[in-house]
Amino acid sequence: REELLRVENLKKYFPIKGGVFGNTTTQHVKAVDGITFNVKKGETFGIVGESGCGKSTAGRTIMRMMEPTEGKIFFQGQDITNINKDEMRKLRKDIQIVFQDPYASLNPRMRVYKIIEEPLINFGITDKAERHRRVLEVADQVGLSQAQLKRLPHEFSGGQRQRIGIARALISKPKLIIADEPVSALDVSIQSQVLNLMKDLQKEFGLTYIFISHDLSVIKHFCDRIGVMYLGKMVEVSEKNKLYDDPLHPYSKALLSALPSPHPLQKKERIILRGDVPSPASPPNGCTFHPRCFSCMEVCKAVKPELQLMDENHSVSCHLYKTAEVEYV
Ligand code: SF4
Ligand code: MG
Repeated sequence: REELLRVENLKKYFPIKGGVFGNTTTQHVKAVDGITFNVKKGETFGIVGESGCGKSTAGRTIMRMMEPTEGKIFFQGQDITNINKDEMRKLRKDIQIVFQDPYASLNPRMRVYKIIEEPLINFGITDKAERHRRVLEVADQVGLSQAQLKRLPHEFSGGQRQRIGIARALISKPKLIIADEPVSALDVSIQSQVLNLMKDLQKEFGLTYIFISHDLSVIKHFCDRIGVMYLGKMVEVSEKNKLYDDPLHPYSKALLSALPSPHPLQKKERIILRGDVPSPASPPNGCTFHPRCFSCMEVCKAVKPELQLMDENHSVSCHLYKTAEVEYV
């Protein structure tokens, strides 16, 4: 498969105003701290991790809603790390976002028709008849009736609101949709409806998704490849089955141990991690997971492990897998 997006050593730091502990030097929250991965055309790349690990910030930085602190982003081979306003407008058509809370992201005083039409106006489509045709087309694709288009967002259930959010993202015919916890606010019974809709749309339009979620079972059903994030870093990147059958990184192992075993006879030990996730303002030295890791070695406390390829479509950042050829700097 052809590569659609490539992210190289992407960082997004937020300055903490005034410093902390009376310290005047500027401190930073290292929300995203050097992630590297690619996304191929037509696939769903999952980003999984606990809340606060930097998933959402990564998504927003990739689509340039936020300025990256460091690193590079390539979309369709073009470097989009430093683009001007005109190029940004073009990019907005190609990369869209679907948010977790469809209600908060929909203007409550705007009728659904307008909500879905609005991006087309922003993209400079002045022909009203053309816009009308597109709104009806996209409403039909997500399963909204013409009568529903006249209503206000509060008249809809959560699942239907997410259909509106998806319609609005879809109307500019994007190539990549970043879905940030798109079903986390929905009842489990509604989740699969929305996920199935997203799958159908992907097939029909050859869409590529970056699917951000803390929910490992949703990720498992929906994604082709997955990046596991911890404290702003991607600690493991893998094809789905390899990750779920044989996770390499101790953090991935712990996360996955919470899932019910697919083979009832095969007992699985739940791994409980010690301590809490440290602050991203002062991440631990060496491997940032080391204070919580059940496999921690001396080297882990001082030396940062790099992401290294273990197998086709499977990379991990952990000293346990350091091969003789790999030299860390
Ligand atoms: Fe654990 Fe060391 Fe691997 Fe970090 S590098 S995950 S501390 S074994
Ligand atoms: Mg988030």
